[in-house]
This record gives sequence, C-alpha cells and structure tokens, in this order.
Amino acid sequence: MANENLQTKFTQTFPEGLIDEPLAKYCTLKVGGPADFFCKAKDIETLKNLISFAKENSLPYFLLSGGSNVLFDDKGFRGLTIKIDLKNIEIKDEEITADAGVIVALMMNKALASGLTGFEKWLGLPGTVGGAVRGNAGCNGLETKDILVKATLLNPETGEIHEEKTEYFGFDYRDSKIKHSNEIILNATFRLKKGAPEKIENPRVFTQPKGLSAGSFFKNPSPENPAGALIDKAGLKGTRIGNAQISDVHGNFIINLGGATSKDIKDLVSLAKTTVKEKFNINLEEEVKIVGEK
Ligand SMILES: Cc1cc2nc3c(=O)[nH]c(=O)nc-3n(C[C@H](O)[C@H](O)[C@H](O)COP(=O)(O)OP(=O)(O)OC[C@H]3O[C@@H](n4cnc5c(N)ncnc54)[C@H](O)[C@@H]3O)c2cc1C
Repeated sequence: MANENLQTKFTQTFPEGLIDEPLAKYCTLKVGGPADFFCKAKDIETLKNLISFAKENSLPYFLLSGGSNVLFDDKGFRGLTIKIDLKNIEIKDEEITADAGVIVALMMNKALASGLTGFEKWLGLPGTVGGAVRGNAGCNGLETKDILVKATLLNPETGEIHEEKTEYFGFDYRDSKIKHSNEIILNATFRLKKGAPEKIENPRVFTQPKGLSAGSFFKNPSPENPAGALIDKAGLKGTRIGNAQISDVHGNFIINLGGATSKDIKDLVSLAKTTVKEKFNINLEEEVKIVGEK
C-alpha cells in the first residue's frame, strides 16, 4: 500500500482518482490485484498531469486501454495505472479519426452508419484504437498498417505532441515501433471508402474459443509454425492449472475458467514455453503484455 500522504495528494489533485483499484475489472482475463493509484484520462491535459504526478513522485506508471491484451499480476501494480479514456470520433470524406480510447467495434459501427466500408474484417476484434495501432492488431487478413493514414503521439518525456504517417510506425506482425518506445498514441486516422459493407464469410471471432481470455497468448513463431498448432502438437491442449486452462479448442488461448489467478496463467505460460522448446526447439514469445510483479 502506498503512503497515506501521497494518496491524499493524489485524490486531491485528481478527484476521479482511485486508490487500491482492482485491475481485474479492467481486463478481459478478469485477473489481477489492485493498482496503488488508478485514474482515467478523459482528456490530454489530464493524461499529461497524471504522467507528471507519477514522475514527480517516482511512481512507475502503466497505460491501460481496452485491457484485451494484458495480464495483471495477482499482487497488482505498485504505481499509477492510467486508463486512456479519450473518446472522440470524427469523419471527414473517406477518413475516420478516432481517439485512442475508442473501442474498435464502436469506430466500425460509426463508419458503417456513415456509409463507409473497409473495417468489416475486424468484426469481433476486441480492444481500442490505441491498442490496435501499438500492436498492429488485425484479423481476417486486415492489419492496422493496411488502413492507417496517420496517428498523433505524445512523448511522455517532453510533453511534445506530434503527428506521424504510417511509415513512422515500423509495423510488423503484431509489432510496431511504439511497442519498443514509451510514446503514447492519442488518436489515429484510417482510410476507408464510400460503399456498401463488405460481407465477411466466417469471421474469425466466431471460431475462437469462448470464455475469458486475452486472445492469442503467444505470437506465431512463423506462418508455418503457428503457436496454437505447436502447443497442440506438444499435447497441451486442454491442460489445466488451478482455474486456468489451455483452451481445448485453440492451443494459443488461455482461458480463465472462473477464479483463475495470474499465477495459474503464468504457470501454464511457462509450461507451454518449456514443452514447445523441448519438443521442437522453438521459443514462444508472449503477445500479451504481462504487467506487475513477476
Ligand atoms: C477474445 C480475444 C480475441 C482477440 N483476437 C485478436 C485478433 O484477432 N487479432 C489481434 O490483433 N488481436 C486480438 N486480440 C488481442 C487484442 O484485441 C489486441 O491486442 C488489441 O489491439 C489490444 O487493445 P487494447 O485497447 O485492449 O489494449 P490493452 O490491452 O489495454 O493494452 C495492450 C498494450 O498496449 C498499450 N497501449 C494501450 N493503449 C495505448 C496507447 N494509446 N498508446 C500506447 N500504448 C498503448 C498498453 O500499455 C499495453 O502494453 C484478441 C483479444 C481477445 C480478448
């Protein structure tokens, strides 16, 4: 628990700030202990002020958005968790600009309602615009990099805000420059077309395992060796530790069966990594961001 003077200073500075806020509430896995300090950033000024507060008080901070690609520790986070809550959407001609905190599904609906097509392949893609840009998220053959025009970034060190075109982001499979820097995505602009919505046959979302998860837990080591197939061939599908299970539908999904701890999940992650290494000499790398104490 953080010291009481600091807690008072925090709640006085940020009346919407919360102390010891359970992080399980804010992620799709529904796992994780309390954040010492927690606050939503509904505008850029608050975001900057929260970062300054963290720095001035030597607190680590973690930026959270839709929580669909994170695993929080059972002990929570000893620092400040900032939930990006920037929510504006604007449409101009065939481009849509959405703030980082906008849920992708909401942006899709807004585009469709305005007669714009281009996002349909993302049906069922969880998370927000900021999370999608950072991880070059995508599904059904459409990645963020394919339709991103530009994004606005905040440098948390200098407070400088700058706009960058797609090339800047160095996009790769579930990767971007932002993953390896501490820059913060504030909004992003996507290129669409006027027209009738595209019909997507059998969208991936309907074939994915049901239940509480963070999507694919590991990156695919290569297109020939998807992580799910390696885990399956290693005989681990359906393996259960505590209340977490490697899905019996898809080897790359770890499911919280109800009441799982982050330790249950991390033990399954270690098991998958060691077994796949032993059997196939392939290293699995987490796609999900693991936050908090190890
Ligand atoms: C059931 C399920 C299915 C999924 N299927 C897919 C799929 O098909 N394809 C796919 O690509 N992903 C998939 N995912 C993973 C997830 O949807 C994506 O990774 C998504 O883009 C994460 O966005 P988020 O807003 O939830 O990010 P969060 O989980 O909140 O954060 C993820 C990381 O991004 C950072 N971050 C968040 N916002 C910002 C910002 N504004 N600026 C800088 N950094 C930021 C966070 O600090 C964190 O490190 C799936 C997840 C689930 C639960």
